[in-house]
Amino acid sequence: MKAEILSIGTELLMGELTDTNASWIAGQLPALGIRLQWVSILGDDLEQLTEAFSRGLQRSDVIFTTGGLGPTQDDLTREAVAAALGETPTVQQEVVENLERYFAGRGIAMPSHNIKQAHLIPSATFVQNRNGTAPGWWVESAGRIIVCMPGPPGEMQPIWHEEVAPRLRDMVDEEVTVTRNIKTLGMSEAAIDEEIAEFFGHENPYLGIYSKADGIHLRVIARAKDEETARQMIVPVEAAITDRLGPYIWGYDAETPEEAAGQALSEAGLTLATMESCSGGFLANSITDIAGSHRYYRGGIVATSTRMLLANGVPAHVLEEHGVVSQETATAMAQAAKECLDADYGVAITGVLGPDPQEDQPVGQVYIAIAGRESAAQLQFRTPPRRIVIKRRVANTALTELRKLVVAEKGRYE
Ligand code: ATP
Ligand code: MG
Repeated sequence: MKAEILSIGTELLMGELTDTNASWIAGQLPALGIRLQWVSILGDDLEQLTEAFSRGLQRSDVIFTTGGLGPTQDDLTREAVAAALGETPTVQQEVVENLERYFAGRGIAMPSHNIKQAHLIPSATFVQNRNGTAPGWWVESAGRIIVCMPGPPGEMQPIWHEEVAPRLRDMVDEEVTVTRNIKTLGMSEAAIDEEIAEFFGHENPYLGIYSKADGIHLRVIARAKDEETARQMIVPVEAAITDRLGPYIWGYDAETPEEAAGQALSEAGLTLATMESCSGGFLANSITDIAGSHRYYRGGIVATSTRMLLANGVPAHVLEEHGVVSQETATAMAQAAKECLDADYGVAITGVLGPDPQEDQPVGQVYIAIAGRESAAQLQFRTPPRRIVIKRRVANTALTELRKLVVAEKGRYE
């Protein structure tokens, strides 16, 4: 099945909005056995949209669209589909009532222009949208399918999972592609390559190796007649990788370092405190990106001056003897954070953010320390000298090291 995506909205063409919907949908298609061939960005222009649908109906089996389903004048997706198919939209009374109920629930009368969202053409059925006013459209005409979804990702993604993917799964009878992403940190690409050499160079399952901001990722890609068979093909490769790289693996698929660390802390029922200098709060920000992090995260200190380090319990003699940018100071910071907030773990970061070297150390030199329950971890390395790269790498590494220590200590306690 050949597919194309139309991302609709003038904001996208103006560079005011980045088209994340298309890449998100693209990521969903391989597992369904759907082959994506085109992605287009289109403005809110009826003529151009109609033309795009007409062209799409000739070259693709299925067209996915996002955006332009709202109630305003410039939301024209429905009108363009109708025009391309030569059909006339009519108002569906039951949807009008749904919309009226939705607005009544918010204590307001339905604005008259929302009527647009209750329009349907004969070839279309509604796709329910639990998170907004605009229902999607599922259109079938002459063996082609058009799926229109709203623009906000928070509406589009649930619609996809609940309504669109299940229908497609029933329809598509083609080879599917399943991907498993295994994320490691602490081992070099060359060392990994050597350790699992026999799995590289095969076509199916294919094993790829990629260097990312949070370590080295191994991607196993399998193709088969259905999802379950493809997953089974991945199992032995994943088992071998786990067996040989185990301690260096910190997560899978879309998992982030903050999720992995947060999950380890949650499972162990333990708490965390942080103190960071060169990462400027990036670590605290990552940790608090996770819903529910308040249950294990007691808080963090952003210490961008010696005064702040001193005020938060880092001993003056450590700073004098070893300087701010040192393993000893990182260790003292981790200990101080842990004690100050009476947490089970203290994580600390210090380093040189630039633009100038500091204490004779180059920009990008970083130190991490973790004070655990009965053990500790220390780590130093040098990242490329760009501010955001330094912050991201050091925070990611601190989180994956934390996860490793929490998991190791948990094993020891049990
Ligand atoms: P609404 O009813 O909210 O107006 P809509 O279907 O008309 O929904 P748009 O008006 O085109 O959608 O976009 C609404 C919002 O959805 C945008 O402001 C943006 O935040 C998000 N959005 C739209 N298209 C995309 C896209 N391709 N990628 C990421 N976000 C998008
Ligand atoms: Mg809109």
